[in-house]
Amino acid sequence: MAKLIFRYGSMNASKSANLIMDWHNHTSNGKSVLSFKSTLDARDYGYITSRAISTRIPASLITPEMNGIMYQMTEWFMPRIVFVDEVQFFTPQQIEELAEIVDVLGVSVQAYGLTTDFKRELFEGSKRLLELADVVERIRSECTECSNEGLMNARFIDGVLQTEGQTVLVGAEQTYRVLCRSCYTKLSKGVV
Ligand SMILES: [Zn+2]
Repeated sequence: MAKLIFRYGSMNASKSANLIMDWHNHTSNGKSVLSFKSTLDARDYGYITSRAISTRIPASLITPEMNGIMYQMTEWFMPRIVFVDEVQFFTPQQIEELAEIVDVLGVSVQAYGLTTDFKRELFEGSKRLLELADVVERIRSECTECSNEGLMNARFIDGVLQTEGQTVLVGAEQTYRVLCRSCYTKLSKGVV
């Protein structure tokens, strides 16, 4: 039975590496696969890449305004499975479209992404996917400050942890570090 699967993790959890490995597993068996990715992810336009793996795989780019395209492409190609990277940037309507691909076309969708932004709040798309997914799996990673599990995608500007600002910040001098809840709280209070 086709399933809508959400595999989530923090920013350094090797989500794309997991996706690429799953993609290879499917294509090496001669099965056809479709991949989609949001245009809001500025890295490596048109490809899904990972720091952990040197191969990259092609992906069709989806803007927030493109409704129905993923469904139409899936209906046309009827792949064995559909992969989605950076799914947090998809709109709730596009998440519903992914569910329709599963329910109407009978094609499984495996989506990878973040659940929460740097303010520790759910992305709209991730929220809808958590509500609709058949399977939700967490890809684990470690806090960069201690050995606790990393969960928060903390944004830093000039070494200072940011708790306010726009969710998608393009072109600004920003870095991200994965923190556990405890380290996030300490650093947001300026305690080192
Ligand atoms: Zn920590």
